[in-house]
Amino acid sequence: MVLTGMKLWIGIDDTDSNKGMCTTYLAVLLIEELEKTGAKLIGFPRLIRLNPTIPYKTRGNGAVSFLIESNKDIGEIVDLVDEIVLSHAMLDDDNTNPGVVFVENDNRAIDFLSKFAFKAVRDVISLDEALFLIGKFMLPHLKYKKGRGLIGALASIGLDLYDYTLELLAYRKPEKFGSKREYDKESFFEADKKTYPKTFDTVDWHNKEVVCVPNSPDPVLFGIRGEDIHALKEAFEIVKTEPIDKYMIFITNQATDMHLIHYNEIEKLENYRSYILKGEVIDKYEIQGGHVFIVIQTPFGEVKCAAFEPTKQFRNIVRKLERGDVVEVYGSMKRNTINLEKINIVELAKIFIEENPICPVCKKRMESAGRNQGYRCKKCKTKSKEKIVKIKPREIEEGFYEVPPRARRHLSKPLVRMNVEKKHIFR
Ligand code: ATP
Repeated sequence: MVLTGMKLWIGIDDTDSNKGMCTTYLAVLLIEELEKTGAKLIGFPRLIRLNPTIPYKTRGNGAVSFLIESNKDIGEIVDLVDEIVLSHAMLDDDNTNPGVVFVENDNRAIDFLSKFAFKAVRDVISLDEALFLIGKFMLPHLKYKKGRGLIGALASIGLDLYDYTLELLAYRKPEKFGSKREYDKESFFEADKKTYPKTFDTVDWHNKEVVCVPNSPDPVLFGIRGEDIHALKEAFEIVKTEPIDKYMIFITNQATDMHLIHYNEIEKLENYRSYILKGEVIDKYEIQGGHVFIVIQTPFGEVKCAAFEPTKQFRNIVRKLERGDVVEVYGSMKRNTINLEKINIVELAKIFIEENPICPVCKKRMESAGRNQGYRCKKCKTKSKEKIVKIKPREIEEGFYEVPPRARRHLSKPLVRMNVEKKHIFR
């Protein structure tokens, strides 16, 4: 069947492993090969981050889709994609189970996919649910091994990007894959200075780290994130690195908080979901390794929240919280603990402290005159019955605080993108 000018979505996921590859890179290879057959890429490819707590993810639970216009037979396109996936996906790894889905742009499946995709970002989906949709709409697809990637493949096509950001991903020369990345650290700080806040999370100033260059053995050299294509390109021109093989700009749901479920929407809490919860601080403690915890009382019961060591200076905010403070916490729930991404201190509790009274003559603090005897100043012979009650000065103020860029999760919305008051930004 020859379809003139057919517009086709191709979604792909689960092609990489800890040993190499990256689904975004495989998608770029697919786009290049399809373009050689005369196909045209429409718009930006989409890099969609799904539920960040899913245990079988390799790194950031990202899936990719793109729209092409082609005069080729759909069977030919499927064969070409199959060939490229077979030669590049890390199929030897037990945890790599690729899936590719093909959906024509006018297929009514698209409407159903948006609901499925939203669930894939916030909830846990079974492979059967993906196979059911594929069957219902008779979607051409490629399934390798367990084919778990079909979940992400469908979701990456379907997600409604009601909020989005862009990421420019630069890739290494293939002969460099697996070796140490060469780049000039300073140039990334320079790029940030020139383009922030239109780009963000390139570097972490406080912790003096470049955060947009990965350490894993995949083909990515760096990724510049931002709001605006011109700012991405400006930053791209400034950074100095080893030779770049190719680059691609993706539209993404990164930095949107799309994974967070608001407390008004739920009746109970479950692990492997991410939430915004409101509650009152009832406990605070620290464990070895520098991990700081608070426990908050919420309508769902007591909830433990963690600021782990990698969140660095953010922990100092959590350390300064006291019993009675009302907070909103943002983060994913695993092992019955919210891993804090952000916190909104809604109301600081008034904490009363008692002090010995001051001598009205010499202005020094009085001392106890004995059990139930009140207070006195030995020198001036002044006396007072009561302690003075004072409000403890708090070392933090109300408002929003976030983890620094080095600890940011892909889906977390940095405060610089949020339209809220009283923001405390860690850059
Ligand atoms: P890659 O670069 O290969 O995409 P990754 O870190 O994004 O690496 P994957 O290797 O894709 O992780 O593994 C994630 C797997 O989890 C995929 O098979 C995907 O289909 C599946 N998955 C994603 N979201 C969900 C979800 N909400 N429920 C169940 N499975 C999911």
